[in-house]
Formats: sequence, structure tokens, C-alpha cells
Amino acid sequence: MKKVWIQNCLHFIFPPLCPLCKDVVDGENTLCPTCWPHIEFIADPCCDQCGLPLATASLHEKEKCISCLQHHFSFTQNRSAILYTQTSKKMILDLKHGHKLSIAPLLAQWMVRSGHKLIEKSDILIPVPLHWTRLLKRGFNQAAVLTQHIGKKTNTPYLLNTLKRVKRTPSQDGLSASARQKNVHHAFIVPNPQDIRGKSLLLIDDVMTTGSTLEACAKVLIQSGAKCVRTLTVGRVCPRLKQGSKI
Ligand SMILES: [Zn+2]
Ligand SMILES: [Zn+2]
Repeated sequence: MKKVWIQNCLHFIFPPLCPLCKDVVDGENTLCPTCWPHIEFIADPCCDQCGLPLATASLHEKEKCISCLQHHFSFTQNRSAILYTQTSKKMILDLKHGHKLSIAPLLAQWMVRSGHKLIEKSDILIPVPLHWTRLLKRGFNQAAVLTQHIGKKTNTPYLLNTLKRVKRTPSQDGLSASARQKNVHHAFIVPNPQDIRGKSLLLIDDVMTTGSTLEACAKVLIQSGAKCVRTLTVGRVCPRLKQGSKI
């Protein structure tokens, strides 16, 4: 009762704001009615492997997109909560570069909603790591922050230091698929493989573009003895997708 009273007082003095337009909203961790329609949630039907939205549902439950029919990932499945559009990009960059950690619970909430089946199948959550020099500069790893929120929300164990980035790779932004792959080649190690041996892992990151970072991480986790790796991201880049349309 006392807690609710304190919270009401705090809301009166510092009303919760929409993270996108800063309008006052009804409660914590939500958007205002104007900004909501600009978020494009990824729902079924989507590719069974990479989670890309598909145009039509198929009778075949494990339908794959054209790219996944030709390409195998080391991770079993990816799911992403929302399309990486101008609006969601702003939220993710505000978290990452604007240090707005208050956005993380909302993004984690969306990830839990779209990835609950993957979370249920996982023993441990693991974030995609930053190189220590970038971590020092930024002060936090956005993937680790999301992992902690998801772990606490769903009571799923998480390990924040299992995977290490040993190569200081330039940003993947603007690189081609093959350049991205080369960029993260041999970039990750698992210093203590006993922590993950025989475990089903869920790898957490902010955005999936071509999947090369997730692939490089999943590959080394499998080589280190993980039973399987699934992946979950907030945003999904879909270059062939114009806003509002599906492939
Ligand atoms: Zn708004
Ligand atoms: Zn796919």
C-alpha cells in the first residue's frame, strides 16, 4: 500500500513519458497512442529459422524464407520482436548511444512477448558481448542490460561473461553481408566452456541484420559444448521489406 502511494506521488512529480515523443503517458514502460502505431511487431507467419515475416501462412508448420532454404545457421531459431524501422531504430539507438537505460524494460517486455517459446526452451540466457574497450567507453552493454531484464521477468538464469569478444571489430553498420562475416570471424571465445556444456542457450542482442554476429557467437558456443543455441533480438533489419509490407 505504502509502495503504491509512493509510486503515485512520484508519478505526480515526475509523470512517466513516452520514450519517443516525451508526451505524458498513463504508466511506466509504454508508448503514447500516437507513437504506438509506428512500431511494427513481428508476428506469425514467420520463417521458422530466422524469424523473418512471411507473406502467407503455410500448411507446413516449419516454413522457411528463401534465404534460409539456401543457408544454414548454427543457431536453431531466431525471433525478433519488431521490425527495425526509423521509429524502432530511434529507440534502440537511444538505449545504445543515448544511454537511456529506462527504455530497456519496455524493449525487454516486447522480446519476452515474441520470444517466450524460445525462453521456455532455454536453460541460460547469454548476451552478445562488446569488446572491453567499447564497454569501457559506453559504460554498459545494451545486450547484457536486456538479458538481465528478460532473465528477471521470466526467472531464467543468465550468464553475462560466458562469451567474450576478443577482436575489436569496427561497427557492422553499412557493411555488406560478406564483409560483416569477415569482420566477426574469430571475434568471440568461451573462456569457461564448462558453464554451458550440454545446455540450451538463448543468445540476446539488440538487432539482427544479416545474422553474422549471432552466427559467429552461436558457432563458438556450439563448438564449446552447448547443446543448442537460439537467438532473440529486439529489432530485425529487413532490407527487402518496405514499412507495412511483407515478403
Ligand atoms: Zn509518443
Ligand atoms: Zn529465414
